[in-house]
Amino acid sequence: MLLGCIADDFTGATDLAGELARAGLSAIQLNGVPDDDEKVEAADAVVVALKSRTAPVAEAVAGSLAALRWLRARDANRIYFKVCSTFDSTPQGNIGPVADALREALGDPLDLVTPAYPRNGRTVYKGHLFVGDVLLSDSPMRTHPLTPMTDANLVRVLGAQTPTRVGLLPIETVAGGVEAVRARLAQLARDGCAHVVADAIDDAQLDVLGDALAGRSSGAEPLLATGGAGLAAGIARALRPQAQSWAGRRAGAWPHGPGVILAGSCSAATLVQIEQAKPRCEHLRLDPIDLETRGDAAVVDAIDFATARLGRRPIMIYASASPQEVARAQARLGREHAAALVESALRRIAIALASAGAQRFVIAGGETSGAVTDALGVRALAIGPEIAPGVPWTRSADGKPIALALKSGNFGGPDFFTRAFELMP
Ligand code: ADP
Repeated sequence: MLLGCIADDFTGATDLAGELARAGLSAIQLNGVPDDDEKVEAADAVVVALKSRTAPVAEAVAGSLAALRWLRARDANRIYFKVCSTFDSTPQGNIGPVADALREALGDPLDLVTPAYPRNGRTVYKGHLFVGDVLLSDSPMRTHPLTPMTDANLVRVLGAQTPTRVGLLPIETVAGGVEAVRARLAQLARDGCAHVVADAIDDAQLDVLGDALAGRSSGAEPLLATGGAGLAAGIARALRPQAQSWAGRRAGAWPHGPGVILAGSCSAATLVQIEQAKPRCEHLRLDPIDLETRGDAAVVDAIDFATARLGRRPIMIYASASPQEVARAQARLGREHAAALVESALRRIAIALASAGAQRFVIAGGETSGAVTDALGVRALAIGPEIAPGVPWTRSADGKPIALALKSGNFGGPDFFTRAFELMP
C-alpha cells in the first residue's frame, strides 16, 4: 500500500478517496476499521473512515490507533491523518492528541500539517488559515455549534493541543521548491519540532510538499502528514509513478446487473433529477403517510413492482417530495418518524432487490446513502470514475457484486441519474 489514510469523519473520507483516485491511485474507502478476518482487496491507497472528529479524546485516539494497526499490518508506512479543511478542532482536541499518538506509534517522524485545499478556497499563509477571502476566525466557523474556531493561527491552535513543539514551514521556503522544503524540515526536526504547519496557497505548492514528503521515497521510512484532502492529493501525485490503477490490478470486476435508483433526498437538485429521469425509467413513489397507514403491505408492493421490472432499464423508487409535501407528512407523523419510515422502507427494498439480482444502485441523499450502504452490508468501497464533481461510482471491495453511486442531496446536474448509468465502467 502506497498510502494509508485515517479520516476523522465519513464525508471527509469520501472527499479524500475521490481526490486520491483523481490523482491516479487505486483507492478504497472503508467504513470503520475492518475485523481481521474481513477480506478487503489490495489498493494503492486505503482510507479508513472514522467518526472521531468530535468524539471524546481517548476514544478518538484509540480508534485512530486501531486504524493505524490495520493499515500497518498491510504494509502502509506512509500515514495520512485526514482532518477537516477548516481544522474543526478546539483546544480540547482532537487533532493534536491523535497526531501525537500516531506519531509515537510510527517512531516519531516529523508530522507535516496543512489543511490547505485551494480548490475549495482553503489556503494557509504565514500559518494562518483562510476560508475564501477571510481568516478562519472571521468565517462562519467562528460560531460552529461543536467546534467554534476563533483563532486562525494554526501554529497556536495546534500548539494548544499538544505538549510537543509546533513549527512553521513558511511560504517563502515552499516557493523555493522541493530541496528547500526538505532542508528546512530537517532543520525543524533538529530544532525539536514534532509538528510543522506548512503554508500553501495553490496546488503547485501542495505538489512541492507532496514531492518533498513522498517523492523518491521507498516507503521504508515511516511518514506522517496531517491535513485536508489537498495535501493528500499532492502526496498522491508524487506517488503516481509507483501506482497501479484499477486497470493495472486484478481487481474485482464492475458489476453489470440490473440498475436501481433509490432516492430519499428531498433537496432541490434531486427533485429536478427525478423529473428528468422519469421518462427514461420505470418509477414508483413512496409516500410516508401510506407507509404508516398500510405498513408492511406498502413496502411489499414496492418490492413486487420493482422485482417484476428488473432488467435493462433502471428502476427508480423515490420518497423525495416537494417542501410542501414533506411538511404535510412531518405535521402528521413527526419529522423523525417520517424519515425513519422512508429509510426503513428503502433499506428493505434495497436488500430485496439485491437478492433479486440488482447490482447497480444509485442512491440519492446523504442519510439515505448511509442507510442503504449499511443495509447492503457493504463496508469497503473501491472508487471508480466520477459521475459529477464529488460523486464517483464505487463498487464493493469486500466481495459483493454491488456497485454504488452515493450522491448527497444537492450534488449533480439535472441528468445525473441517466449520466450515472451511461458512465458505468
Ligand atoms: P439530503 O442529502 O438531500 O439531505 P438525506 O437522505 O440526507 O438527503 O435526507 C433526507 C431525509 O428526508 C431522509 O432522512 C429521508 O428519510 C427523509 N425523507 C425522504 N422523503 C421524505 C418525505 N416524503 N417526507 C418526509 N421525510 C422524507
